[in-house]
Amino acid sequence: MIIATTIAQVRAQVAAWKKEGLTVGLVPTMGYLHEGHASLVDEAVRQCDRVVASDFVNPTQFGPNEDLEAYPRDFDRDCALLEEHGCAMVFHPAVEEMYAPGAATYVEILSDMPKQLCGKTRPIHFRGVCTVVSKLFNIVTPDKAFFGQKDAQQLAIIRQMVRDLSYGIEIVGCPIVREADGLAKSSRNTYLSEAERQAALVLSESVFLGQKMVAEGETDANKIVAAMTEHIQAQPLAKIDYVSAVDGVTMDPVDQIAGTVLVAMAVYIGKTRLIDNFIVEGK
Ligand code: AMP
Repeated sequence: MIIATTIAQVRAQVAAWKKEGLTVGLVPTMGYLHEGHASLVDEAVRQCDRVVASDFVNPTQFGPNEDLEAYPRDFDRDCALLEEHGCAMVFHPAVEEMYAPGAATYVEILSDMPKQLCGKTRPIHFRGVCTVVSKLFNIVTPDKAFFGQKDAQQLAIIRQMVRDLSYGIEIVGCPIVREADGLAKSSRNTYLSEAERQAALVLSESVFLGQKMVAEGETDANKIVAAMTEHIQAQPLAKIDYVSAVDGVTMDPVDQIAGTVLVAMAVYIGKTRLIDNFIVEGK
């Protein structure tokens, strides 16, 4: 596996692959990789001739009081996982390589979409995500890019950005990978104490509860959200940021399960903010 730290290196390698007629898949990550990330690489390997993963903790998507400094990092372990899963190149730039001094251009969606759900507590988050993903698209020029459904709002926002900016890149959404007991895999799970790790199960339990209500025919989104909220509130270590049902494309709140609906949540377990969700294809 090639380890690239400069934009020029990535461009030269991708150009050589394209000259050979090979297709290129991109898997953007912030590192500290787990089976969720690996599943994206696996899908990319299935669909593309060469896979590039980026491993970069992007400072512009963190707010001033968030966990940028504390965010876990282990690049050697990441390389081992990526290589094992057939990744051809990892792009691991320094912050200055991505954001040269004086960098002042951002990519931002100006509708309400990035203000909903996670945007309420993380007002600059999606501007940072759109900017770094846009840069990665320009650097790697992939045929396809792979994102997890775990970050459902991010996936919807990237799809909108690709439409709006006419990127000729296919966006592939991949299902949430969970621990054996249901907790969605996340680099941030490492912050949890043993008691918090147990308490964190309320997220996936409430997802399964919501899915069961839908399977049993419930179409009132507010009732589903209320039942999920009640389940989470019963856990003393959990503090809800939001539990919401929204339109799967626009992220606008909905009252009924009709069309594509995203039921999503962010919950603090102690100091750690975790997210989970499910998608419903209503009638
Ligand atoms: P991150 O490193 O957290 O920025 O995540 C990089 C990519 O991996 C994003 O597209 C995430 O949605 C995806 N991802 C993270 N956790 C999971 C998971 N448990 N299952 C599937 N995809 C995931």
